[in-house]
Amino acid sequence: MAELLFRDDAYLRSCEAIVLGDDERGIRLDRTVFYPTGGGQPGDSGVLRRADGSTIAIADARKGESVDEVLHVPAPGAAAPAVGETVTAEIDWDRRYRLMRMHTCLHLLCAVIPGAVTGGQISDGKARLDFDVPGEALDKDAITEKLNALIAADHPVTPRWISDEELAQRPELVRTMSVKPPTGFGRVRLLDIAGVDLQPCGGTHIKHTAEIGRVEVTKIENKGRQNRRVNLAFA
Ligand SMILES: [Zn+2]
Repeated sequence: MAELLFRDDAYLRSCEAIVLGDDERGIRLDRTVFYPTGGGQPGDSGVLRRADGSTIAIADARKGESVDEVLHVPAPGAAAPAVGETVTAEIDWDRRYRLMRMHTCLHLLCAVIPGAVTGGQISDGKARLDFDVPGEALDKDAITEKLNALIAADHPVTPRWISDEELAQRPELVRTMSVKPPTGFGRVRLLDIAGVDLQPCGGTHIKHTAEIGRVEVTKIENKGRQNRRVNLAFA
């Protein structure tokens, strides 16, 4: 079990940690700021800084077998740490911050477009979400305008928790058909953009929508009869 520091503070760039293990799957730490790939958001890259100042490059972070396990995948040729060694885990903050801004923007997109989300992907500087909107013609420019209005309004963005029971009573909160929120742990994490969007999400987000900056819908594609793929990028 590792302490997942990004869950309570997505703005943490580094932390001290002890190496718990290192095998072909990756390096495990007792605590980490590295977000592992999940919910459409890519895992963090960065370094593990050793006591002598040298670094172990981390190319990716992935989920382990248990919910609280993060595997730090070293770049090819990176040095191996010793179990028990103390390191400073540092994420590539510029990349993570762009991912946080784009990720939060997808929550706004869910508020602008009605219909269930059938898939999605966030990458550096751009993202896409697929919506199940039968017969609906989506207007690229109108969506861009609505998104930028929500961004400029600088809504507060707050994570909070809901019990499994309460979530079961409010099925309308789950927008994503392809990925169900992880229940069975007693509680599920919600992301609340006050008055705009509320849905289960375990990703990393910024604190105020104005941090996203201007965005634009670059393309809307038809993916099947009912499926519309909305592509976004920073303007
Ligand atoms: Zn989210």
